[in-house]
Amino acid sequence: MAIRNIREIGEEILTKKCKEVTEMTDRTRYLIEDMLDTMYEANGVGLAAPQVGVLKRIVVIDVTGEEPYILINPRIVETGGEQTGSEGCLSVPGKAGIVTRPNYVKVAAQDVDMKPFELEGTELLARAICHELDHLDGHLYVEKVEGELTDVMAIQPEEE
Ligand code: ZN
Repeated sequence: MAIRNIREIGEEILTKKCKEVTEMTDRTRYLIEDMLDTMYEANGVGLAAPQVGVLKRIVVIDVTGEEPYILINPRIVETGGEQTGSEGCLSVPGKAGIVTRPNYVKVAAQDVDMKPFELEGTELLARAICHELDHLDGHLYVEKVEGELTDVMAIQPEEE
């Protein structure tokens, strides 16, 4: 278990498309453990593998601080509604901006044993899922911000 260095906006790796995970290996298990440690250490609600410099389709999300979701090869299969609110990113420290996202998403993914499962989320969880999945295709929320980025002390995404 280890804290990994979080890559920041401007680094090319954050603009690349990640590769599918085809098998679970010890190396990938360690990566996932490190991603969880790194997310909690940074007080984030989500982290995608490219943010720690690994171009694999893996995200970790925990919007409550006690229920981490590990999503491998995730894809959104259903969306509904709309929410507009403040969003931040561990790769864009000290900033926040207003982004509109679906208020409901259903995501199909694989777990650490590569077993398929589905996860539904609303509000902050839906926002976090959309935000983290964007990272896997090389996109940052700043591309979607309505208006200007603002300076913030805390960098946790907030609900409206
Ligand atoms: Zn992010």
